[in-house]
Amino acid sequence: MSVDIKSQTHEELTKKFVQWEQPAYRVDQLLHWLYEKRVTHWEQMTNLPKALREHLAAEFALHTHELFGKQGARDTTQKFLWRLHDHALVESVLIPANPALYGEQSDRHTLCVSTQVGCAYGCKFCASGLDGWKRNLEPYEIVEQVTAIERWHDAQPEEMERIDGTRKSDRAINNLVIMGMGEPLANYDNLLKALRILNAPWGGGIGARKITISTSGLAPRIRQLADDPLQFRLAISLHGATDAVRGRIMPVNRKHPLAELTQACAYYQEKKGRMITFEYILIAGVNDGLDQVRPLAHLARRLYAKVNLIPYNKVEGLEWERPDERSQENFLGALEHQGVTATLRREKGGDIDAACGQLRLKTERALRGDGPAPRR
Ligand code: SAH
Ligand code: SF4
Repeated sequence: MSVDIKSQTHEELTKKFVQWEQPAYRVDQLLHWLYEKRVTHWEQMTNLPKALREHLAAEFALHTHELFGKQGARDTTQKFLWRLHDHALVESVLIPANPALYGEQSDRHTLCVSTQVGCAYGCKFCASGLDGWKRNLEPYEIVEQVTAIERWHDAQPEEMERIDGTRKSDRAINNLVIMGMGEPLANYDNLLKALRILNAPWGGGIGARKITISTSGLAPRIRQLADDPLQFRLAISLHGATDAVRGRIMPVNRKHPLAELTQACAYYQEKKGRMITFEYILIAGVNDGLDQVRPLAHLARRLYAKVNLIPYNKVEGLEWERPDERSQENFLGALEHQGVTATLRREKGGDIDAACGQLRLKTERALRGDGPAPRR
C-alpha cells in the first residue's frame, strides 16, 4: 500500500519533487492544499498541473478519516469516533477551554488524540487496554485526527459559533494533548513524525509548547524525548506514589519502577528546564489514602512537578469507583499543605465517556453484538 501524503515532511516532499524535476514552490502549493485548505481529493488542488496531480495520486495515498460516531457533552466537549481505512476505530476529544455553558467564550481548543488502536499496557482502570493492542497509528493517522476536526469545524460555522463563539476563520485547534487511546511513547517514531508535521509552520502550525505528551512511564523513551530538540510538554500518568500502590494498577511499573521512572523525569526536567505534570487519577480505596500524599509530595517537589488530580471516570465492567468529593478535596488539601502545586480537575466530558478508549470499546462491542450501543 502506498504511503499517505500526510505522513511526509516538507523535506521528504522536496526530495521527491527534485527527482520529478518540479520547482520548489510546488511543494508549498501542495502543503497549502493539505494543511490550510485541508482538501480530500487530488482534483481539488487546482493550481497544480494535472500531470503532477496524477503523479502524486499514483505515488501517494490521500486518506481521510470517516466520522463514525460523535458525542457532545453538556459542557460542549465533543468526542469523535473515526473509522480508519482498515475499519479500526479510534477516538479524538475536542475540549473548549471556556465552555459557552458558563457564559464565556472559548479562546482556544484542545484536541486529545489517539496514537494506537488499543493499548498493550493494560492499566487496570483503563478502557483503552481492555481489548488489548491492535496496531500503531501511522503518522498521517495522527495528523489526520487534527485536519479532520479542522475540516469539520470549517463545515459548521454556525454550530461552532453556538458552542463556543469561534468563527470559521479561526483555527479550531491550538493545543494538543496526546492522551487518547494508546501509549504514545510505544509508537515513538510515528508519533514524533506526526508531531513534527503538526508543529511545522507549513503543517499544523501548533507550537511545541502547546503539545503535551502523556505517558504511563516508559523511562527509556522519556530520555529519548528529552534529547529531542522540540520542547514538548510532558505529563506522567503516575496514579500511585509508591511501587506497591502503582504496581497494583499499572503493570508497566514492574518494568520501569518509580526509581527508574523518576530518574528519567529528572533527566527530562534537566534537559528541558520545563515543569513536568503528574497525572493522578483518584480511585476510591486504591490510591486516594492520605498515606500517598507524603510520597507524592516528595516526588513532586523533587521533580518540580505540578500535580493534576483527576476523579476517576467509571468504566463499565470495571470494579473501580471515584471517591466522593470530600475525599477528593481532602487529598488536594493535604497535598497543597505539603507545598505542592496541585489542581483537582472536574472531569470535562465525564458524561460522554470522555476517558480514553471508552467510546471505541463500547462501539466495538456493540458491533460485535456483545454490548449495548453507545449513546451517539
Ligand atoms: N497511555 C498514555 C496516554 C493515554 S491515557 C498514558 O497512560 O498516559 C490518558 C490519561 O487518561 C492517563 O493519565 C490515563 O491514566 C487516564 N485515564 C485512563 N482511564 C481513565 C479513567 N477511567 N478515568 C480517568 N482517567 C483515565
Ligand atoms: Fe494504555 Fe495509558 Fe490506558 Fe494505561 S492508561 S492502558 S498506558 S492508554
